[in-house]
Amino acid sequence: MKRDKKLVLLAHCIMNQNSVVYPLARAKGGFKNVITTYLNENYGIYQLPCPELRYLGLTRKPMTKEDYDSEAYRTLCHKLAEEVMEDLRHYRDDQVTIAVLHGVNHSPTCSITGRRGHFMDILLELLEKENFELEHREISTSYEE
Ligand code: SF4
Repeated sequence: MKRDKKLVLLAHCIMNQNSVVYPLARAKGGFKNVITTYLNENYGIYQLPCPELRYLGLTRKPMTKEDYDSEAYRTLCHKLAEEVMEDLRHYRDDQVTIAVLHGVNHSPTCSITGRRGHFMDILLELLEKENFELEHREISTSYEE
């Protein structure tokens, strides 16, 4: 069997910069170096959803964490995070290690360190509740390809 049975959870826009707020794209398509590093290390890649895209579409303006701080947005993030958890339980039942969560620093939604974004806040809480232990990594604010 060829599977290495390890997964990285990537914030959606790491693989798809078309999803970010218009002036803020930092690569033509996705961050190839990040993605290929994971593939070369035999990770399977799980692309997390982009909550901001789902909430306000592609014509949204740059917004702060406070701007996104509403009941409706938190409910959406919760629903999306629960859907991710459903998939992760299946992987765990099959002895796949969910090894890394890779976010985007300074995002109001997907930042992990510093001021945690809304989606990562909820997802990490759910992961912790079910005893998933993963390494946390982030795309830095100055990174581009
Ligand atoms: S950081 Fe998160 S919410 Fe923002 S574009 Fe990337 S995936 Fe979407």
